[in-house]
Amino acid sequence: MNESLAMQELPPYLFARIERKIAECREQGIDVINLGIGDPDLPTPRHIIDRMAQSIYDAANHQYPSSAGLLEYRQAVAEWYKSRFDVALDPKTEIVSLLGSKEGIAHISFAYLDHGDVNLVPDPGYPVYNIGTLLAGGKSYIMPLKEENKYLPVLEDIPAEIAQKAKLMFINYPNNPVGVVADRAFYVKLIDFARTYDILICHDAAYSEMAYDGLKPLSILQIPGAREVAIEFHSLSKTYNMTGWRIGWAAGNSKAVEVLARFKSNVDSGIFQAIQYAGIEALRGPQNCVEESNRIYAERRSIALAGLEKMGWKVNPPQASFYFWAPVPKGYTSASFAELVLDKTGVVITPGDGYGTYGEGYFRIALTVGRERLQEAFDRMYAAIGKVDF
Ligand SMILES: *Cc1c(COP(=O)(O)O)cnc(C)c1O
Repeated sequence: MNESLAMQELPPYLFARIERKIAECREQGIDVINLGIGDPDLPTPRHIIDRMAQSIYDAANHQYPSSAGLLEYRQAVAEWYKSRFDVALDPKTEIVSLLGSKEGIAHISFAYLDHGDVNLVPDPGYPVYNIGTLLAGGKSYIMPLKEENKYLPVLEDIPAEIAQKAKLMFINYPNNPVGVVADRAFYVKLIDFARTYDILICHDAAYSEMAYDGLKPLSILQIPGAREVAIEFHSLSKTYNMTGWRIGWAAGNSKAVEVLARFKSNVDSGIFQAIQYAGIEALRGPQNCVEESNRIYAERRSIALAGLEKMGWKVNPPQASFYFWAPVPKGYTSASFAELVLDKTGVVITPGDGYGTYGEGYFRIALTVGRERLQEAFDRMYAAIGKVDF
């Protein structure tokens, strides 16, 4: 039996391929330093683990959870929005829990697209926007993100007939892989655009809390009118080092929240309640763990910046997120440069074309190893490759 056409064309997830390559290197005895995957190496804060530990013994938590999420969890999300963004949300109608935001980002296309419908998808971008679109039978219209436009999509470049057909637009600020944030003016324009063409904006805000130099990235829901046209995806994964726990939420437009929740109620049965209590603890508990993580990433960011500059790169360090996005040297493609670095140094970087065609010619470094290992990665690269040309 053949799988669907969409599945036949679907390659393994980018990081599944990279993981295989790493496993091969390790089998050969190579000491791999993995700057590839955006998975925090720091542990989940202790108070969150303690809450999980208590909750797991309570038999009330052993049953099917509600798929929308415990009301208390959604209330904790609403309180967090209020204190962080000064946005008041109704936990009953404007928030739905997700089994990690990747799940919701993939599923929203299934809830909205009919066969052949169009989504507007940023490139480079998190692969799930495009993959979810394709698996749901839709088509992606690519919005190039270019340095000269501060890595924001140029709305004027989207043909009116495409915009009229489009159902969803995915955006992601702070951005993975490029590390930039969007300003208020962009969101204002975007909301206007979405109103004009009746498009649901799907804002992926997974990195809203990971920022430097006192920067506080915006929620799209802070902008007037956003609630009519936007849903925002959030995750505890990066903010609280909880990638393995699988917990997040979507918030915003009540119709979109209801549609996504109704879809989900038919395909999953929610997050294990003990994990939801851990999530409540994360959101309501002390927030200095977030500052502490950011302090650590800021230190690593300085090491990476110095390491890249020493080899000849002129790069902007990320304003937010834990990713450096940089061009490959002259004579290389993204793939050939990533391969060179791995073969000569045992350091894993992610080839930029994994994030789309416009990522070709770039690579991404994730600041997800400790200072010493990060320094060692750059020492190895300098020793093996030296100065680079562009
Ligand atoms: C890590 C990440 C997510 C969050 O994924 P979860 O499923 O919540 O763990 C979402 N979007 C982007 C761009 C990411 O990098």
